[in-house]
Amino acid sequence: MFNSLSNRLTATFKNLRGKGRLTESDINSTIRDIRLALIDADVATPVVREFTGRVRERALGAEVSGALNPGQQVVKIVNEELIQILGGETRNLNMAKTGPTVIMLAGLQGSGKTTFAGKLARLLRDKGHFPLLVAADLQRPNAVRQLEVVAERAGVPCFAPERGNEGGHDAVTDSGEGTRSFGDPVWVARAGIGQAKVRQYDVVIVDTAGRLAVDENLMQQARDIRDAIEPDEVLFVIDAMIGQAAIETAMAFSKGVDFTGVVLSKLDGDARGGAALSVATVTGKPILFSSIGEGVKDIEVFHPDRMASRILD
Ligand code: GDP
Repeated sequence: MFNSLSNRLTATFKNLRGKGRLTESDINSTIRDIRLALIDADVATPVVREFTGRVRERALGAEVSGALNPGQQVVKIVNEELIQILGGETRNLNMAKTGPTVIMLAGLQGSGKTTFAGKLARLLRDKGHFPLLVAADLQRPNAVRQLEVVAERAGVPCFAPERGNEGGHDAVTDSGEGTRSFGDPVWVARAGIGQAKVRQYDVVIVDTAGRLAVDENLMQQARDIRDAIEPDEVLFVIDAMIGQAAIETAMAFSKGVDFTGVVLSKLDGDARGGAALSVATVTGKPILFSSIGEGVKDIEVFHPDRMASRILD
């Protein structure tokens, strides 16, 4: 994902190698190269500005520590500032103290939500949890079936509205959730959580509908589901390959659904990856996971420091 950015930054730092002292003009030309590399990687303009401003200020004022030469000192500053724009500390999933942990997924159609639902379920299952997937995307004809397939691959149960159950039992009777309405995603989400309580699943992952573009109906539906199920996490899944458009989308979802965390999907792609580098700073929300392929195990917990090291490797 970050190959081109990585190569550009490495080349920039090479120019500083062996310099005993950095002049202001050395620092300015380094900052210019970093700025261009970030812009070419599609990093959002305000993030580029903030990042380069901080690096410049710190590089100009840098004390040369005994262990590092000036070039290494700049690399260290860039590394630390990269960690900051990626969100600083690793942020773990917020788990409920009592009852099932409810995780709702939101994002545009095609962003990788359904695939991610399966990966997260599998990851949690491997850690000893008992997750239930809930298919509350009733917008796309195929979405429910797709989640069932994903659940099967992950080896976890799926609460699917057509059948109203996740294994041959009647969800309505079990959950006591009232009138059955297969067309209503809020009902499905609630019924799924009811099912989880009855069957002792400890994590519920609710897949919701996406659209090809942000629209008010989509946001309202996501808000309605969120308000009805009061999730412990609302994770916004963003396709890291969509470039600058990702930022607008992230802002719209941040305003519309007020998500608690971000999932970067398709980080295995060879696009420029600016979205990945901008989204935490622009939305002020932490990145919790990255999705790195189509397989059920292609998921990583997101660590800002490891990602920064990968970029500067
Ligand atoms: P949804 O509409 O948001 O639920 O998106 P899907 O989960 O259906 O994913 C859309 C497409 O992206 C599918 O073809 C997936 O196989 C693919 N996809 C999802 N996540 C990843 C990923 O991390 N890497 C790659 N390369 N493809 C992915």
